[in-house]
Amino acid sequence: MTKQTHSFQAEVAQLLHLVTHALYSNPEIFLRELISNASDACDKLRFEGLNNAALYEDAPNLEVRVTFDKAAKTVTISDNGIGLSEAEAIANLGTIAKSGTKEFMTKLSGDQKSDAQLIGQFGVGFYSGFIVADKITVESRRAGLAHSEGVRWISGGTGDFEVETIDRAQRGTSVTLHLRAEAEEYLNTWKLKSVIGKYSDHISLPILMRKEEWKEGTDDQGGEMVTTDEWETVNKASALWTRAKKDITTDEYNAFYKQISHDFADPLAHTHNRVEGSTEYTQLLYVPAKAPMDLWNRDRKGGLKLYVKRVFIMDDAEALLPSYLRFIKGVVDSADLPLNVSRELLQESRDVKAIREGCTKRVLGMLEDLAKHDKLPEASADGVTDVVSDEDKALVGKYTTFYNEFGAVLKEGLGEDFANRERLAKLLRFASSTSDTVSVSFADYKARMKEGQEAIYYITAETQAAAKNSPQLEVFRKKGIEVLLMTDRVDEWALNYMQDFDGTPLQSVAKGAVDLGKLLDEDEKKAAEEAAEAFKPLLAKLKEALKDQVEDVRVTTRLVDSPACLVVQDDGMSAQLARMLKQAGQATPEVKPVLEINAEHALVKKLDGSVHFNDLAHILFDQALLAEGGMPADPAAYVKRVNALLV
Ligand code: ADP
Ligand code: MG
Repeated sequence: MTKQTHSFQAEVAQLLHLVTHALYSNPEIFLRELISNASDACDKLRFEGLNNAALYEDAPNLEVRVTFDKAAKTVTISDNGIGLSEAEAIANLGTIAKSGTKEFMTKLSGDQKSDAQLIGQFGVGFYSGFIVADKITVESRRAGLAHSEGVRWISGGTGDFEVETIDRAQRGTSVTLHLRAEAEEYLNTWKLKSVIGKYSDHISLPILMRKEEWKEGTDDQGGEMVTTDEWETVNKASALWTRAKKDITTDEYNAFYKQISHDFADPLAHTHNRVEGSTEYTQLLYVPAKAPMDLWNRDRKGGLKLYVKRVFIMDDAEALLPSYLRFIKGVVDSADLPLNVSRELLQESRDVKAIREGCTKRVLGMLEDLAKHDKLPEASADGVTDVVSDEDKALVGKYTTFYNEFGAVLKEGLGEDFANRERLAKLLRFASSTSDTVSVSFADYKARMKEGQEAIYYITAETQAAAKNSPQLEVFRKKGIEVLLMTDRVDEWALNYMQDFDGTPLQSVAKGAVDLGKLLDEDEKKAAEEAAEAFKPLLAKLKEALKDQVEDVRVTTRLVDSPACLVVQDDGMSAQLARMLKQAGQATPEVKPVLEINAEHALVKKLDGSVHFNDLAHILFDQALLAEGGMPADPAAYVKRVNALLV
């Protein structure tokens, strides 16, 4: 059979370029990636072997072997897993199969392309071999195929690769890296062992290397380490989650996290438990420190690997956690599920439902713990400060980190997870009119509420600055009442599901007539009533002039410095949400806002009797629209009107 030359898919060439350039500072991860592929291949064999024991041929013990050849300057990673057919080698080693990866790559900006963190996240996988090698040879035979149906794949990692059919007695895959000159340090047992120990200790199958022994030199020549023919296992080779908590160090937990997540950074927290009872399973769940690039991708699945009695079943088992916790990474190992369980079956299984509830509770518990320790305790009134353990000190600031990365996703839970809504609400944090950092919880807010204040006030807007400077906040600022600033896209939607927090209603300052209730004093109330009465004729005129734009016009107490603002009726869709839906191309019911005017404002006072009444009325309306981040329907007309007055 002759050699065939194939071109890499365009994106692969691009990825190869990125990988070799962005990851050269962290070259050792190639070993983690190739061992992880070997382990995946063994998992696949174990899984297919459940229904077809013949696939094991005469080698029932699954294992990985790492060898090197000093003279040839090669390192080889071999496994006796499922292997690759020729067609599979062409497809899987020549294209980027994962649709997501392609998409992220096109989205990476010039700066990001050099960011090893980001590139690590989409699992550079096999191609990471080219960080240390200028040529890779893969030889493989798929389990079950004849010896004559082996395949050799060779590439220099640039434009193309060669494929030919070979005879191969052993099942599985050998990946041989022809090392670049600067990577020759990997031609060393100690070096390879230490990298394996760092990243691959908990691969659940044995990784074997040839034993070395000391050979005395002749005469006065010193001795040297030489490899023998004997093999030794160089990793722990037990699935981490099956071991007892007390025997596992933080470093080991972190290394395992990096192995399953492809993340370079340590996780923020983990929880590891064996659950017994009617549904039995082990869970090992991690909170990452950084959001992946595709967090908002709709097709993104969950981050949990499902095992059944230690047999790997599937990645990204989305049924194991609700979607708002899709950023959690980890492993669930069930003792009850059938080995041939499919994604569809998972959705319906009662055991899975129990696992999902259990995992959700654990994750929320983990987040509550981080939230509780986010800040060091303050001294109490009598000057007593609690002594904080080193363990707790290490948790300071972690929740803030978590929330900045994942807070917006967590909010989706308000609409998605009715049963845990109260726990979730306690985990939310916001900026407010008195706090620029996103750190105010509903409970903090409540504790600071003014005497007589009956609601938790909030405003939604595109940005924090827009929210903070909104005219609708004026009276609240004057009265010293804090208002939560909500600027995540998901806020509007999520808040639909929260009428109150711990018995205190939530009230948008942009919805309905502002009712400050007991917060207004008698004089203010009286003045407002009088103004409403005195302005009746003016309001009627304004309403007539703006009848195409507004539902109603009324006098308000919410403004201090601005002449007017727009609000929506109590049950109406907020302007912010309407704008978002429109941007997303969705049909929105046409709801007219209410124009509220500030009876104390000079412009408003001038309005009555002005010869420019009609122009002023429209300017008032358009400016109110601008102030809340909207756009006049006819900007040119607005400019014309203002200019006419300026002249
Ligand atoms: P991933 O492991 O995330 O799928 P990789 O780039 O690491 O991505 O590997 C690409 C594909 O190449 C794998 O999905 C698999 O189909 C194939 N592959 C790589 N290494 C092996 C191996 N040792 N045995 C069998 N198939 C392999
Ligand atoms: Mg891989």
